[in-house]
Amino acid sequence: MRVLALLDGTILDPDAPLLRADDLGVLRGDGVFETVLVVDGKPRELGPHLDRLARSAHMLELPEPDSAEWEHCAKAVIDAWDWAASPEMALKLVYSRGPEFGEGQTAYAMGLQIGAGVVRRRQDGVSALTLARGFEPAEAERSPWLLLGAKSLSYAVNMAAIRHAEANGVDEVIFTAADGSVLEGPTANVVVANGRTLRTTPPVIGILPGTTQAALFRAAEKAGWETRIEPIQAEELTSADGLWFLSSVRRVTQIRTLNGQPVAASAELHAELSELYESNYRD
Ligand code: PLP
Repeated sequence: MRVLALLDGTILDPDAPLLRADDLGVLRGDGVFETVLVVDGKPRELGPHLDRLARSAHMLELPEPDSAEWEHCAKAVIDAWDWAASPEMALKLVYSRGPEFGEGQTAYAMGLQIGAGVVRRRQDGVSALTLARGFEPAEAERSPWLLLGAKSLSYAVNMAAIRHAEANGVDEVIFTAADGSVLEGPTANVVVANGRTLRTTPPVIGILPGTTQAALFRAAEKAGWETRIEPIQAEELTSADGLWFLSSVRRVTQIRTLNGQPVAASAELHAELSELYESNYRD
């Protein structure tokens, strides 16, 4: 099932062509996007996703997106989805610079089903590999044209990294900076448990501020966990009490091996963190 809507809420046939061949989102990956998890008709962290869409748009010098318009468009997709048939949806919000030889930007929302593999990995966990991303943590602030930390439509590098891992029999990737510090996964943040402390890396080093990570930390703090946003060295990962990928679609996915070595992966701790994350969405 797929549901497609324009920014004004008009529902379109998802199999019909929508983009112009000269759309700069296609020609240059010049645009931004968000992927929002919607469960039983309720979008999770929609406000933070729209804030991040605006942050990314600002970094690409695109006109500021109107949050009310995007909310309206998201609602149109959510209302048109068959929730009895599929209780979970990945809602993509896509905003490109628009056609090179035309006026205005391209903006639409599309609801997609979440693959069975992603759902299974929330239970089973994943293997991961560290791969160099090739920049120093200070580069993000020093070189804003690199768009480090923007959720731009240029995800070819991220997808290539996952293919590289898969070609080596590994599910996922943790990117590292040139100084050996942890960045993020190609489509997820990395969260580390050390005792009753949860840690993740700071967005200022050129990664996305995660809405799922923030939701987990919010609930964890209420439950008495300490949370820290600070640089983490890759070499610290193997001695942690647990490692996870967090993203809207993955939710809380445990990392079970890193670079071929087993890492601590307690089922109880995984259940506890998953429960903390889910507790944000109980009425
Ligand atoms: N980092 C990257 C590069 C991502 O693409 C994503 C989401 O897709 C995340 C982190 C996690 O963000 P969120 O939890 O807001 O989905």
